[in-house]
Amino acid sequence: MDQPQPQAFVIGSSQARSLAADSNLTLLQLLPTLVKPAQALARPPISNFHVGAVGLGSSGRVFIGVNLEFPGLPLHHSVHAEQFLITNLAIHSEPALQALAVSAAPCGHCRQFLQEIRNAPDLQILITDEDRIFKSLSTLLPDRFGPFDLLDTARVPLLLEPNHNRLKLPTGNGGDRQNLILEALDAANRSHAPYSKCPSGVALVDDEGRVYKGSYKESAAYNPSLGPVQAAVIAYVAGGGGGYERIVGGVLVEMEGAQVKQEATARMILHLISPQCEFLVVHCSKQFVN
Ligand SMILES: [Zn+2]
Repeated sequence: MDQPQPQAFVIGSSQARSLAADSNLTLLQLLPTLVKPAQALARPPISNFHVGAVGLGSSGRVFIGVNLEFPGLPLHHSVHAEQFLITNLAIHSEPALQALAVSAAPCGHCRQFLQEIRNAPDLQILITDEDRIFKSLSTLLPDRFGPFDLLDTARVPLLLEPNHNRLKLPTGNGGDRQNLILEALDAANRSHAPYSKCPSGVALVDDEGRVYKGSYKESAAYNPSLGPVQAAVIAYVAGGGGGYERIVGGVLVEMEGAQVKQEATARMILHLISPQCEFLVVHCSKQFVN
């Protein structure tokens, strides 16, 4: 498999502005023109249906999302382009998504998943294989169910907003895995798990020693939630990682006694897509701060 270039998944704000100016377009008009090249980065070996999503963040940076499918796993472990896009923003600490263009109509799960960001109803979405006009998410998903039904959204950070779950490692040294454990801890601390309050994160290392990490992200409707292995695999793909068999180590950090546990699923996914991966699970406690 060709190795995608990391810069292919994030375009800096000044580069985005000059790309738009070169074609006499606004930044919003630029988004649909980047959808086809984004589709080429998708990895859907089951469906061969390549989906590309291109989003404009509040900083002016442009982010790419693609769909990922994993042969040998049940279909619900797939990653959709919109989930990849949101995770890509989170990896780069982008606080808000203003608009996105996507090659095919977002599925019901993705419309639901997008409810987790602040001001979701106003998010502007253009579908390039349809009428090519921006419509608000509230038009695509009226009568919505979302965080406001379950949380005090004035106080609880929503997806993409700064968040720290105050997880604390058990005492003891992780030996030569310590660095990977700390990266997984950081991912778990950024996890969006306001419903179960069971945050988790995964860090992966490839055969060149490069580290990629991802945070578990919950949906108010539960099923569209994105697991921590998928989030870390998104970081791997967006960061220029090659075939998944090149992932040789992985650490999952989650809470001791958690009601929602990722361990069994994470082990199963990594065993299948990255058979050489040495997998370690670290159980944390929660650090209570006065
Ligand atoms: Zn979808």
